[in-house]
Amino acid sequence: MQMKNKRKKYAKSAHAFTQARKNIPGGVNSPVRAFGGTGLKPLFIAAAKGSKIYDIDSNEYIDYVGSWGPMIVGHAHPKVLKAIQAAAKKGTSFGAPTLAETELAKKIIAAFDSIEKVRLVSSGTEAVMTAVRLARGYTKRDLIIKMAGCYHGHSDSLLVAAGSGVAEKGTPSSAGVPDAIAKLTIVVPYNDINAVKTAFKVHKNKIAACLIEPVAANMGLVPPTEGYLQNLHDLCCQNNALLIFDEVITGFRLALGGAQQLFGVKADITCLGKIIGGGLPAAAFGGRADIMDMLAPTGTVYQAGTLSGNPLATAAANATLNMLTKQNCYRKLEILSAKLEKGLTDAAKEANVPVTINRVGSIMCCFFTDKPVRNFVDVRSTNIKQFKKFFAEMLKQGIYLAPSAYEAMFVSLAHSREDIEKTIEAAKNSFRKISRKSR
Ligand SMILES: *Cc1c(COP(=O)(O)O)cnc(C)c1O
Repeated sequence: MQMKNKRKKYAKSAHAFTQARKNIPGGVNSPVRAFGGTGLKPLFIAAAKGSKIYDIDSNEYIDYVGSWGPMIVGHAHPKVLKAIQAAAKKGTSFGAPTLAETELAKKIIAAFDSIEKVRLVSSGTEAVMTAVRLARGYTKRDLIIKMAGCYHGHSDSLLVAAGSGVAEKGTPSSAGVPDAIAKLTIVVPYNDINAVKTAFKVHKNKIAACLIEPVAANMGLVPPTEGYLQNLHDLCCQNNALLIFDEVITGFRLALGGAQQLFGVKADITCLGKIIGGGLPAAAFGGRADIMDMLAPTGTVYQAGTLSGNPLATAAANATLNMLTKQNCYRKLEILSAKLEKGLTDAAKEANVPVTINRVGSIMCCFFTDKPVRNFVDVRSTNIKQFKKFFAEMLKQGIYLAPSAYEAMFVSLAHSREDIEKTIEAAKNSFRKISRKSR
């Protein structure tokens, strides 16, 4: 099979990275951007449009990172740009309430059955951090349960790894996180309901909340097993703890009402981000009114933000959500993503490279393993060397995948059938090369 393989040049990106590293720690403003998981140097991006992204060496790629999830309608969508421009003309920040914030809040409440009130913030980290504080304030308890491999932003309570035993208190997963704080988080394996039961038993009446990505999308992509989310919901109820769904990725991605709608399980507090910023910094958390009203200024749980509900971000969010409420969006994403999944599966089989592809809607991950991937231990046992080769080969052929074996790929409404077909062709070549190299 012949593939026009114009040799790509990366000289400008390489130079830019050298300069950046002199001025910015590691040359990047968020670690995974450094391409550390690939053995390559990062591309510096000049622009993006629709499903394509362009680096400063003028290479074009079909983009499956989508800014790590937000760009569900594609890059630089004319309607989003128009909304941002119109808002910018009227002033970029007031630190006072605006009509557009209520409009956005109403849209979020309409989409999620479990949300009666919602507060806007500027990042997913902030949303989850505050949801945890709110759960602690509401229940008057200190401990929280999180699942290994789920990412909830970089607040202290959530940069925590599992302790030594089941239901054991956690240990810091980052320098600078005090032991005393890590100890308040219990980390259990994803998809293991018995571990949660044990934690509730061992720490009776002390657990404020169970926090989970209902579909785990920060360890590749790991769906919940049958009944897991419902069981988690029931356990929280029985123990008077709150269930917090971190739908920063899955909200408005898997369905308008997120993973909750897809799996029919309601959370007490839901965290949103990524898509609801429409590519600008915005996030949110919401839930039952009695819980949400505990926030300042009505309640005693403090939270604030200078740029919360920022007019530009809110305009981008409203424009994006308006498009997503149009019929057929999620059907279209499903069809495109299913086609990509099948193409990748067949290509790997043809080349005799064992892979497990996990997919829920427009989020998927190709794991290099012949085993099922159901939790973080499974994810960590996949073949990273093969991932690196695959990543490099795909990049050469103009496909921009997430630069880490632990990150998912995102299909957007801007991806065309032709994009998907090109991607499958590139994957065929890439899998073949891997198979040859490992022989
Ligand atoms: C990205 C992400 C966050 C953090 O959001 P930021 O906007 O990067 O702070 C939290 N939770 C999940 C599930 C995420 O994917």
